[in-house]
Amino acid sequence: MMEDHPDIRAALESGYPGYTRQRLCPCCGYDLGDKSFEVDGENLCLPCFTEWVSDYLSTNPEEVAEALCIDVHDES
Ligand SMILES: [Zn+2]
Repeated sequence: MMEDHPDIRAALESGYPGYTRQRLCPCCGYDLGDKSFEVDGENLCLPCFTEWVSDYLSTNPEEVAEALCIDVHDES
């Protein structure tokens, strides 16, 4: 039975992504805690997500406005 192999047991107990609460933010390396935000397939912690949103907002303000149902008036 493969389930009793020590290497598999160690992997199950220590490191399987999604099965442990010790998940780390790929951006800053700290524990994600209870809440994470998936951006492009990576789970970011709140401070890194806040920073990402801030960057995204400054480069794509119209997309953010649309996502929030905010009208954009372009008078040009
Ligand atoms: Zn982070």
